[in-house]
Amino acid sequence: MTQNLAQPVASISQADRRKCAELVDSAMRHRASEAEIAVVERQLGRYPRGMVAVGARCVCGTPLAVITRPLVDGKIPFPTTCYLTSPEAVKAMSHLEAEGRMNDFTEQLAQDEELQASYQRAHAMYLELRHDLARTLGDSEEHIAGTTAGGMPVRVKCLHALSAQSLVMGAGVNPVGDAALEQVRDVFNPSVCRCAIRLGEE
Ligand SMILES: [Zn+2]
Repeated sequence: MTQNLAQPVASISQADRRKCAELVDSAMRHRASEAEIAVVERQLGRYPRGMVAVGARCVCGTPLAVITRPLVDGKIPFPTTCYLTSPEAVKAMSHLEAEGRMNDFTEQLAQDEELQASYQRAHAMYLELRHDLARTLGDSEEHIAGTTAGGMPVRVKCLHALSAQSLVMGAGVNPVGDAALEQVRDVFNPSVCRCAIRLGEE
């Protein structure tokens, strides 16, 4: 591999770099508890291996998306650092995808240079976030260097991954994830609890 683990991600502003570092700091200070891992296991129907921390929560406190380490169990490269876990959000994104919204977004992207630039920035910030995590946790990124998620930086392939980045990193980072979340607001909205599975309820 030619990618060096210590090599910083190119073309990212100091402010964006700082934002990523703060997110990783916060994730490391609030590592996933047993109760959080258990509720995510119920949401996904499988054990969330490599879960570092809850990345976003519903108003009720239930995880909506999690932050996963770059190398799971010390051997499985995992590029989807921001992972959507809310069943309501997953279903809403699947519905948008079934309606063909990914093609609409991809077309929009091809025609709009400003949108392309923000999407590139979202890709760079995703890489930076994962790079910080890799450095902090001592995980190798050699098999996923330069790879992010959801089709970034030029295509739109998975609205689950893109909306997860929006939830974890906040609005104004991933324009496609933000738009997808806006489109499903009637059925999924982090500030309106519709959780069938809730943290703290067994
Ligand atoms: Zn809720």
